[in-house]
Amino acid sequence: MDFDIILAGGGLANGLIALRLAQLRPEVRVAIIEAGPVLGGNHTWSSFTNDLTAAQRDWTAPLFQYRWDEYAVRFPAHSRTLAAGYGSCTSELLAAAVTGALPPGHILTGMPVVALSPTSVTLADQRMLTAAAVIDGRGQGPTKALDLRWQKFLGQEIELAEPHGLTGPVIMDATVPQRDGYRFVYTLPFGPRHVLIEDTYYSDGSDLSPDLLRSHLADYAVSQGWTITKIIREEHGILPLGIGGNIQAFWDEGEAGVPRVGLRAGMFHPVTGYSFPDAVAIADLVAGLPVLDAATIYRAVRDHSVSAWKARGMYRLLNRMLFLAALPDERYRVLERFYEHDEALVGRFYAARPELRDWMQILSGKPPIPVLRAMTTLLKYELGRA
Ligand SMILES: Cc1cc2nc3c(=O)[nH]c(=O)nc-3n(C[C@H](O)[C@H](O)[C@H](O)COP(=O)(O)OP(=O)(O)OC[C@H]3O[C@@H](n4cnc5c(N)ncnc54)[C@H](O)[C@@H]3O)c2cc1C
Repeated sequence: MDFDIILAGGGLANGLIALRLAQLRPEVRVAIIEAGPVLGGNHTWSSFTNDLTAAQRDWTAPLFQYRWDEYAVRFPAHSRTLAAGYGSCTSELLAAAVTGALPPGHILTGMPVVALSPTSVTLADQRMLTAAAVIDGRGQGPTKALDLRWQKFLGQEIELAEPHGLTGPVIMDATVPQRDGYRFVYTLPFGPRHVLIEDTYYSDGSDLSPDLLRSHLADYAVSQGWTITKIIREEHGILPLGIGGNIQAFWDEGEAGVPRVGLRAGMFHPVTGYSFPDAVAIADLVAGLPVLDAATIYRAVRDHSVSAWKARGMYRLLNRMLFLAALPDERYRVLERFYEHDEALVGRFYAARPELRDWMQILSGKPPIPVLRAMTTLLKYELGRA
């Protein structure tokens, strides 16, 4: 065997596994094979402080470049600041941490994996490498088993002529014109004149027109009274949001017996598309296994993914309301109404740890869309006609 573990894809989920194994099991020989030129790609991964346990916050702390004590949301009917911590991890810090943790020669970049089995990978140059286990973390792949919709966005890190005056992130500014589904602008203030702004859509389709979104960001900056002096960096994403599907069938797709992590394992928050907290949890799970062979890892990650998927059924129901029952220009009302709830409930919702009484509150009161339409749509979906 060339290695103990080969990580196919050097993105978020596999990067965190490499890091956690290096911390807890330094004797395990780990290799990462990444198709892109660098580990981690070009991302800013954010999460709420309470999405992670205290121990998880500790070991991921060096990856966080920015932290805030509060965040805001803005809707046509109300705006609000919530006293919940938020932080951003950058792909540069993840890449640097993983590179520092692995021995020389254990990271291959610019090298696509063209085939894999539970114990081997074939590289684009036809070399074959073997290990006790291969973990597939190559990101979102095609699937017929999950019913998905999309959160798509384009973000620009910009420098401004004058200070923006923000004290924390604006996670959703939905006071912007609603287009192509639910639209909002997401803002992270990195410095007094330095912000990341993202034009974001909850859409039925996964098409994204970069030039159009760039022009929306330019308009947004003007609407905030900001003059852009420099565009430092740009990132874009098309993230899956779950409205339904069969998680066991999803696991039966693809290469049999190959452990999968990250988006490949369906590990993302169905409503927000965030996957950082799930990736941290999977890294802890893998690094804590008594035996690190393909069969043990496969069983553990599949069971974890299936139980997380089942526990999140109510989120998918909420998404069906959002994407199927609400008309595209009504979608913002579902979120506007959600943000009327108390801070603790909002925090549990994001952390994917809601309680039954939370769902009763979320689904009760004055509905943001007509009840009859909501019920008919949900029923049609169950009958396979939506
Ligand atoms: C721009 C952007 C911003 C995001 N922001 C957030 C956020 O703020 N918070 C959050 O929680 N989530 C965020 N997400 C969503 C989610 O966290 C990311 O999509 C996350 O990177 C998914 O992790 P992953 O490990 O499954 O896949 P990825 O991180 O995408 O990693 C997959 C890796 O596999 C590589 N690869 C693919 N095919 C091959 C192959 N054949 N051979 C070798 N390597 C291959 C890719 O190049 C990539 O590096 C964001 C996503 C994007 C795109």
